[in-house]
Amino acid sequence: MRPASAETTAYRGRFAPSPSGDLHFGSVVAALGSFLQARAQGGEWLLRIENIDPPREVPGAAASILHQLERLGLCWDGEVVYQRDREEAHRAAFAELKNAGLLYRCRCSRRVAGPGRYPGTCAQAQLGKEVSGADRLRVDNRPIVFTDALRGAVSENLAERCGDFVIWRAENWPAYHLAVVVDDAAAGITEIVRGGDLLDVTTRQIYLQQCLGLPSPAYCHLPLALDLDGAKLSKQTQAAPVSGLAAERVLSAALRFLGHPPPDSLLGATPEALLAWAVAHWRLALIPPDDRCPAPADLA
Ligand SMILES: [Zn+2]
Repeated sequence: MRPASAETTAYRGRFAPSPSGDLHFGSVVAALGSFLQARAQGGEWLLRIENIDPPREVPGAAASILHQLERLGLCWDGEVVYQRDREEAHRAAFAELKNAGLLYRCRCSRRVAGPGRYPGTCAQAQLGKEVSGADRLRVDNRPIVFTDALRGAVSENLAERCGDFVIWRAENWPAYHLAVVVDDAAAGITEIVRGGDLLDVTTRQIYLQQCLGLPSPAYCHLPLALDLDGAKLSKQTQAAPVSGLAAERVLSAALRFLGHPPPDSLLGATPEALLAWAVAHWRLALIPPDDRCPAPADLA
């Protein structure tokens, strides 16, 4: 594991939810997995609210997420970071990429560009900044390689996989990848433990770290929690919020999902007791090898 800087060699993890709805089982799994991986190593666990996408933000969701984490006993270190307060750092990184000649203006709408590989339509057009649109980062035609703690070796060629990708949005705010990479580096995060749905974008984030001269943290992608229809639990699929359920029940279910079923002696134990047991027994090798697993029916 590469330390974030010479003076910080200790483990530092984080949970970084977006305030687009209440905490659901899938986000509890990500929060718990990253919390246990940090605490089992005597490390810090930070919390960042990723509120850079105003249209997707649900009023009250950020406060609700903090409240649910506290109720589950998932206590974070230091101050909560709100990503929107980090605009200056995001703009500085954007300027650095721009000055390095790595960006170009793209006026393709999302509909035209589509969800697949961007074919580079605007790459040679040299559109000026007076043209409204997003800014894309030129990718290299070479493999980006990393080793995920659970998924093993990953190698992707971004030119083939996704093409040049957006790092500054037409609405004039940073794209998710830029904000995540800049904020994780600033916080000195040494390992990112998160849901398996983000495994897909990790090479883009590593490439961005390389372009910005930032260290790459270690990565660990947890199994993705699926609903009864086999779709990813998400706010979009109206996953059940965990707010109405007893904290012990939610934690026990998430521990079972992560291959750490609490012993019978902990039946009815407090969240603090469950977490203390889990920290003492946490081993990545116990996590199911599947990249996606069904959530318990009553939590899906
Ligand atoms: Zn374009």
